[in-house]
Amino acid sequence: MKLAERTSQVQPSFTIGINAKANDMREQGIKVINFSAGEPDFTVPEKAKRAAVWALDENKTKYDKVSGLIVLRNAVAKKLKEENNLDYSAEEIIISNGAKQAIMNAILATVNTGDEILVPVPYWTSYPEIIRLCGAIPVIVRPEDKVDYKVTVEDLEMYITPKTKMLLFNNPSNPSGTIYEKEEIEKIARYCQEKDLWILSDEIYERFFFEGEYFSPANVGEEIRERTIIINGMSKSAAMTGLRIGYTASNVEVAEAISKMQGHLTSHPALVSQYMAEVALNECREEIASQLSVYKKRRGLVLQELDKLKDVTYLKPSGAFYVMINFGAYKDRIKFDKSFSLAFADKLLEEAKVAVVPGIAFGLDDFARIAYTVSEEDLIEGVKRINDFLSAL
Ligand code: PMP
Ligand code: GLU
Repeated sequence: MKLAERTSQVQPSFTIGINAKANDMREQGIKVINFSAGEPDFTVPEKAKRAAVWALDENKTKYDKVSGLIVLRNAVAKKLKEENNLDYSAEEIIISNGAKQAIMNAILATVNTGDEILVPVPYWTSYPEIIRLCGAIPVIVRPEDKVDYKVTVEDLEMYITPKTKMLLFNNPSNPSGTIYEKEEIEKIARYCQEKDLWILSDEIYERFFFEGEYFSPANVGEEIRERTIIINGMSKSAAMTGLRIGYTASNVEVAEAISKMQGHLTSHPALVSQYMAEVALNECREEIASQLSVYKKRRGLVLQELDKLKDVTYLKPSGAFYVMINFGAYKDRIKFDKSFSLAFADKLLEEAKVAVVPGIAFGLDDFARIAYTVSEEDLIEGVKRINDFLSAL
């Protein structure tokens, strides 16, 4: 018996794999500093937890609307209006099992088998794999600018073909933390309009914005809003990673197509999680906002520590909670076959007990990514261990 071809076309998730390895080592009593998975170390806001208890007491445990609870879709619409100055009605919002499913839904609804999707480097590790699972082709765009890797219209122009149907745009970026200015977004959005491309705008780190003002492609104007599918969710902003709530905001036609498909796949996410998300959005804004200052402080600290490392540079993050660090200067001191970053991350975990994600997972093999979702104490200890490791190479 043979497995389907599509199973060999996708890689297992690097981020999830390394996180699991680090957790296994911890269970064996090894003191690992885990910089791998981008998972907030905060807990779910208390009020949201109580909503779960309430939902169970009220027996909210039956099948419900595929597109998501109306109270939650209204809460998302309210959030988009009040925080992002975007007008979406509840009919234009679909609640899914995490942003991962929202991304897959959006691609399945808009892109045909064999069509191409532009994916700028560095990209979140799951994008190319989700695209392949949908039967489409990820076209990896390598921006000219190597300072912060912001993609420009000129870059896109080099990779576009008649088969290109979508641009995958992630702002702030996982893994670089790069943030695009309003003018840069406007130019890219207008180009997508000229070339008749969908814009999949992954805004899951939209609340982790340390500099400037937030701006979505959907804010550019009505025609751009029509071709933009916003992806967001509760994993990062409300520390609800395991509760699996994501959503799309799109035009009504796309929303209906997504709902039609989701009705055959997962129906809807667990109602308990949906009630929690509603409360997190409507009643926990201040608590969630206060977490931002913690991340901002940690960012300052980690950059200050990284500045002490010899022959190491990084992409300066303005948002999200990651730093992409360039260890390329150490390439000739690590034995590797196909991938330097993979060998580097393995050796670092084995010898220094520090878990990072190899840059190859994001399309940049000279780099490794750290997530500063750990305590200040662990941040300092982790970078110190990296320093000792590099000195011993
Ligand atoms: N988009 C980006 C850029 C991410 O980093 C992640 C990782 N959590 C996701 C989407 C998926 O998030 P989730 O499925 O947990 O909502
Ligand atoms: N998105 C996070 C990361 O990049 C969590 C793990 C995952 O789902 O990939 O680390």
